[in-house]
Amino acid sequence: MNATRVADFVPHNNPCAQCGKPIATPVWVEPGKGCVTYVWVCCACDYEFTSTAVFAVEREQHPLAA
Ligand SMILES: [Zn+2]
Repeated sequence: MNATRVADFVPHNNPCAQCGKPIATPVWVEPGKGCVTYVWVCCACDYEFTSTAVFAVEREQHPLAA
């Protein structure tokens, strides 16, 4: 299952962008083409932010529309 493969890339203990407290896991993971967006909510200060991980993908599967 591809979902398992994506889950393997989920980062953990990402520091809060505002207060720096580590956040164990993202509250939401949004897979995209060649990247995955993670939504983090800090339990210490309620700050919400996103981070994006970009992966190398086989471009042949997603040719750019010229
Ligand atoms: Zn915080």
